[in-house]
This record gives sequence, C-alpha cells and structure tokens, in this order.
Amino acid sequence: MTRPNLVFIMSDDHASHAISAYGSRINTTPHLDRIADGGMRLDAAFCTNSICAPSRAAILTGTYNHVNGVTTLDTHLDNSLWTFPKALQADGWQTAMFGKWHLGHGAAHDPTGFDNWRVLPGQGHYHNPVFVESDGSGGTSIVERGGYVTDLITDDCLDWLDARDPDRPFALFCHHKAPHRTWEPDAKHFTMYDDVDIAFPDTFRDDLAGRADVVQAVRMRMLDLDPVTDLKATVPPGLSVDEEIDWRYQRYIKDYLRVVASIDDNVGRMLDWLDANGLAENTIVVYTSDQGFFLGDHGWFDKRLMYEESLSMPLLIRYPAQIAAGSVSDDVVVNVDFGPTLLDMMGVEAAEHVQGRSFADVLHGRTPDDWPESMYYRYWMHDDDAHGVPAHYGVRTKTHKLICYYNDPLGQPGANGPADPVEWELFDLVADPVEVDNMWGRPGTERITAELRTELSRLQAAVGDEPYPTDD
Ligand code: CA
Repeated sequence: MTRPNLVFIMSDDHASHAISAYGSRINTTPHLDRIADGGMRLDAAFCTNSICAPSRAAILTGTYNHVNGVTTLDTHLDNSLWTFPKALQADGWQTAMFGKWHLGHGAAHDPTGFDNWRVLPGQGHYHNPVFVESDGSGGTSIVERGGYVTDLITDDCLDWLDARDPDRPFALFCHHKAPHRTWEPDAKHFTMYDDVDIAFPDTFRDDLAGRADVVQAVRMRMLDLDPVTDLKATVPPGLSVDEEIDWRYQRYIKDYLRVVASIDDNVGRMLDWLDANGLAENTIVVYTSDQGFFLGDHGWFDKRLMYEESLSMPLLIRYPAQIAAGSVSDDVVVNVDFGPTLLDMMGVEAAEHVQGRSFADVLHGRTPDDWPESMYYRYWMHDDDAHGVPAHYGVRTKTHKLICYYNDPLGQPGANGPADPVEWELFDLVADPVEVDNMWGRPGTERITAELRTELSRLQAAVGDEPYPTDD
C-alpha cells in the first residue's frame, strides 16, 4: 500500500453554514469548495462536546471527553495519552503541528507526537502574535512575529513542507485560530462587505418560546456581544432595541466573514502548493473546525448548545485515490472517529482502547450495514459567567433530537445562582429542522420520547459515561 500524506486543516469556530460548499447564504469560499469538489462533503459530522479544547482532545485521542479527561476549557490534555499523530510518527511519517493547540502548556501538556511544532499560547492573538515552539531538545522558546495569524500559520506550514525529507510521507496539522472571537480581520479583507447588508438567518428573531428555561437564559444574544472587544465600535445613539440588535449582527457577522475569507485564501495557498509539487493525488486533505457556531441563528453567537448550528462540524475530505470527486454523505460521524478513519486510510493501526470507529467505508461510498444512526453528546461546563450555558447531554438520530439539561448533577448551585431543575427538549428534525418547536411532554410524543430515552441510555452505556438522575 502506498503511504499517503496528510494535510489536516482545522479552524476554530467555523460553522458549515459559512462555507459555500455547504450552501452558505452569506459568503463564498472558493478554495474550501475545491476540497469538496475534489472529494467528499460530510453533512452529518458532529462534535461530541461543542467547545474548543474538548473537541480537539476528542479528535487527537479518538476518545470521549470523560475518557480523555478534557471535559471543559479548564482541563488540559495529558500529553502522555495515545494520539493518532503519535501513531503516524511511530510508523515513519514526518509530523508537524502549527497554529492553535489550546490543550495546555508545560512539560505535561505541550504538543507531543510532532517532529516540529510552533503553537499559539492559549487563544493567541490575531495581529503580531507570539508563538511557543519546540526547541527540539525537550524545551520551548518564544517567537515574536509581525503579521497576521492565519498567514503566519500557513507560512510555517509551507516552510516546513519545503524543508521536509521528500522520501518519507508527512502528516501536517495546520490549526487556525480564526475565526474565533474576537474576529479581527487582516488589512486585505478589512473593508470587505462594507457596502452590503449580510442576510439575516431565518431564526434571527426566534423568541425561544417553549424552549427550556435554561436555554432561554443563555448569554449568547446579540445584546451580549461586547461593543468594544467584539464589535469594535460604539453603539450609535437613538436606535430602538430591534435596530440595535440588527446593527450588532451586521458588525459581528461581517468581521466573522472577513476572518473566514482569510482562511479561505490561505487554504488556497496550501492546495496550490500541493498542486505545484505534484502531491495532490497522494495527499489526504481534511478541512474541519472544532465545532460549529451560531451565526445569528436563534438570535445567538457562540456554540456549546446541542442545536444543529453548534453541533455540526464542517468536514471536507479529498483523497483522489479513494474518494469520488464531488461526493456527499449524510451518514452520522463524530469527531472521535476522525483519527481512526485517517489511520485506516493510511494503513496504520489505531490503539485498542480507541472509541471512535473508522468511517473510511463511508468515504469510499460503501456505508456498512451496521453503521450508527445516532450519536451521543455531552456538554460538561455549567452556567459559566460569560455564556451561562447549562450542562446537558443528548442523543441525535437521523430524524430526532432529545436533550436533557441535567444541570448540576450534584445539585450544587451554578456560578450564577441556585441549582436548576432538570429540563428536556425534544425536536423532530424532519418537520422542524431549525429546532424552534420543543415537543417535550406533548401528547402523542410518548412513544418517540421513550425510544430516544432508551437510545440515550444505550449510548451512554456504550461509551462508558455515567447516567445522572433525571427526575422528570
Ligand atoms: Ca472552537
């Protein structure tokens, strides 16, 4: 078997519905679309916990967060754990990681499994960022650089590719900071969209009626954006509340899309390099993001909740030797599956304990008969000061979603008040794909509710997570 190369590009908070290959109504991404056109677009790729560090840990380790220990933003990756880049390195691949790591720093948390790495400390900065890099002998050093973060990370990737040993395969991890909050564009895209209004999502005016009380209380509305750091402007005087909400959306979404445009340009540079070096045929190219994002959907920004816009990950994979150009799949895959899948395609064994399952057959257009039709989700953080999103777990099938806001499992007060009662949401994704009609408790839903609760328990047991009391 030939040993393919891997270019794994992951951005931070890039929602599928801001990619034209996924039918975006608000922007175009011609270079990301090149990956989709030459490979497969996966329409049902989901994160198992919609928040940065936990999703990154799930991808690298092939395990759920209760197993890899990175359940929240405050937990760091134990870098002695098995990861799929380590498996590639051990089997002879040249490996490197550039960009956002966000899984902790220091001897116990720095990147491992990479011959070379240079990463942003914590969240990093958009302009003139500082990086931390391996000094090659177990220590680290700080690098100060002028320029724009998405360009610099790409520069590092291309420099490393140019300097690699051409006789050995490579696996390159390009992890962009963008388009994470606070959405700071570069000079090239600074005035993009100045003269246009961006379309509002259909659910922008969602009043959240009928949704769980804790969902109605989350602090991710347009009015929760910080005018100074998020919107970089002073709210114009004299606006009505609705006018201010609209104004805030335009400020927010334009900067988000400008930052995405830079990612798209830089993905183009990577693809051009592969073409120019004759490596497009034998290189697996992946584009994904650690989770989705609300782009004004339901009136929100940010992620965390199990709603579709946040749960869905963009996932585009091109590998001409194995994947038909322009193919599309709606099979359910999760971030825990990414590592085992890539190893499978590259002819490398995953560790025995890995929980993810290879979806290489899905990429080949041959979905196995026993392929899962549901997925398990759990968001562990509870009622943090900034966003106020409650802890919850749930199940998504091809047609329905059941979410349990179990809130604090120990009955302790959250950061912002007393312990909340357990609440549930039930959505019919066929009749109500935008999730505005919570059917929980409605007459006639007893049977589907029972089926979904059984499936939720089955999945919790299958991944080894603990059920919590849910006294509905
Ligand atoms: Ca993220």
